[in-house]
Amino acid sequence: QSKKNGNSDYNCYQDDMADDPTRKMKIEKELKTALDNKEFTLKYHPQYNTKTGKIWGFEALIRWKNPELGSVPPDEFIEVAEKNHFIIPIGEWVLDNAMRFLQDLYEQGYKGYSISVNISVIQLLQDDFVDTVINTVDKYNMPYPCLELEITETLMIKSFNLVDDKLNYLMEKGIKVALDDFGTGYSSLTYLRTLPFTTLKIDKGFVGDLTEKSVQGDLIASIIKIGNQVNSEVVAEGVETKEQLDNLRRNDCDRLQGYYFSKPLTKEEIVHFLLSEQKQQTT
Ligand code: C2E
Ligand code: MG
Ligand code: MG
Ligand code: MG
Repeated sequence: QSKKNGNSDYNCYQDDMADDPTRKMKIEKELKTALDNKEFTLKYHPQYNTKTGKIWGFEALIRWKNPELGSVPPDEFIEVAEKNHFIIPIGEWVLDNAMRFLQDLYEQGYKGYSISVNISVIQLLQDDFVDTVINTVDKYNMPYPCLELEITETLMIKSFNLVDDKLNYLMEKGIKVALDDFGTGYSSLTYLRTLPFTTLKIDKGFVGDLTEKSVQGDLIASIIKIGNQVNSEVVAEGVETKEQLDNLRRNDCDRLQGYYFSKPLTKEEIVHFLLSEQKQQTT
């Protein structure tokens, strides 16, 4: 009996590791040295142009492998990094590496692709955010329109004015701004009228629910219509089935991303992927 109780207590912690305070503390501690110890890598998730069926570009997604903690998913550690502001150097590292990846592709002859980089609101609120972004794109000599910043509403933005000016400035330069996970945030519709953006990225939760007969089909069609009405591009993430693909295509979704096409890939795998795609087109 006592043994059973002991086990269930233990299991309780195991079942919900994300809420384990000691794990959170470990994550916080290990994050401090993770950049210096080169524990982060990036994966790249292809996005397709729905009309042409060709690759539009890639979303850069961070991966963390720590000797103590093993692989920690971004959904678990980004939140911690936002709280203690480690997200600032980590975010700069992501942007720098994503632009270098794109430059590498260009130099290998794979031109015309774009890169989407996830940006935390904490980064956006820094005084030097605009300079950091512009300097990084310039450093790698890339055209501004090949960069898209994906902003997630993980935090309520209070000072819209400041953020507004920064995003407008970057957009005037040609940099794209996507509202990520659209539909799930604190106030998606408020964001629509207060934040400047070029792209709406529909959350994968909506796409996952998409089956022929479900009401979600109407919901997605409506979100895409809203996007078109405010002159933005609409992207769907989490596309896993042919059925979802067909539905999104019928509803004029501009870009598609998901496991149906590919999982997030390493840089080497991307080059391989592009090479085989090129061969298919020339033979
Ligand atoms: P997100 O920006 O919404 O990225 C999309 C997430 O959905 C990624 O998970 C991606 O792997 C996953 N995904 C895309 N298509 C499919 C699909 O068809 N099926 C399934 N099951 N999953 C799919 P990931 O890489 O675990 O990232 C989770 C979140 O962590 C991201 O959501 C983003 O909010 C955050 N994140 C990732 N990298 C960064 C980063 O460099 N900086 C910041 N600030 N946040 C990041
Ligand atoms: Mg994203
Ligand atoms: Mg998303
Ligand atoms: Mg997300």
